[in-house]
Amino acid sequence: MISLRKCIGCGSHKVKEDLIRIVKSSRNSNGDKIIIAEGYAEGRGAYLCKNEKCLKKAEKGKKLERAFSCKVNLDIYNRLEGMVKNSEQ
Ligand SMILES: [Zn+2]
Repeated sequence: MISLRKCIGCGSHKVKEDLIRIVKSSRNSNGDKIIIAEGYAEGRGAYLCKNEKCLKKAEKGKKLERAFSCKVNLDIYNRLEGMVKNSEQ
């Protein structure tokens, strides 16, 4: 069985290989931290399609903030932007 994850931008379901995983890690010594999971990362996750449209939607609708119920650093958005741009080429 293929498990599908929901993109926080467009809301469509995709296989996790097609999505970027963003994780709220609670195992950080400085408290909760939002990270972009490249590989395995423990914590509560949210998923985003690898395209700019979905990122913009998520950013505008504060979907990450809602998914994690905390503030998301601009740095995370900047890194995500770099990632979606790379994968669109
Ligand atoms: Zn999407």
